[in-house]
Amino acid sequence: DVPVAGLPGTNQERSFFMVKPDAVQRGLVSEIIGRFEKRGYKIVAMKMVTPSRELIEAHYDDLRSRPFFEGLCKYMSSGEAPVVAFVVEGKGIIKVGRDMIGVTDPLKSAPGTIRGDTGVSIGMNSIHGSDGVEGAASEIPLWFSQDEIANWNKTADKWIYE
Ligand code: UDP
Ligand code: MG
Repeated sequence: DVPVAGLPGTNQERSFFMVKPDAVQRGLVSEIIGRFEKRGYKIVAMKMVTPSRELIEAHYDDLRSRPFFEGLCKYMSSGEAPVVAFVVEGKGIIKVGRDMIGVTDPLKSAPGTIRGDTGVSIGMNSIHGSDGVEGAASEIPLWFSQDEIANWNKTADKWIYE
């Protein structure tokens, strides 16, 4: 089993994120991941992947019946650019991560959010983030094996959490 809670003895949430191919092509990887670091969150897994069609279909399984599903799968698994998948741990990360990302349509995302600062198209919207506890619990093990998750102790946490 891939741990979805934090370190043993802690109660920290984890959430799954992915810099999408458009943002990798545009050189926005550090800009996007840096926002989570700056906020004080701990990155516990990260890798660049050229996802297969099968992996993307599994990831977006609940959207199969939506009209945009085919286009979404094509763009995410085109092979023209990889994605950067990462797992972030910390207080409130599931909800706060979604707030940091903005709403699905970048044109409706507030300035200051990742989507509100980086894009104009609903499909190519720079980043994915789990939409809840269940989403995080299924997406983390879909993308990462247990040995790809670093259960490290971030000593700066004593200057972040009071
Ligand atoms: N998407 C799209 N057209 C739409 C809605 C969504 O192309 O009308 C794409 C977009 O890339 C989005 C992804 O499908 O990020 C997953 O959709 P979801 O509703 O889960 O949005 P998210 O959780 O990413 O905000
Ligand atoms: Mg979603």
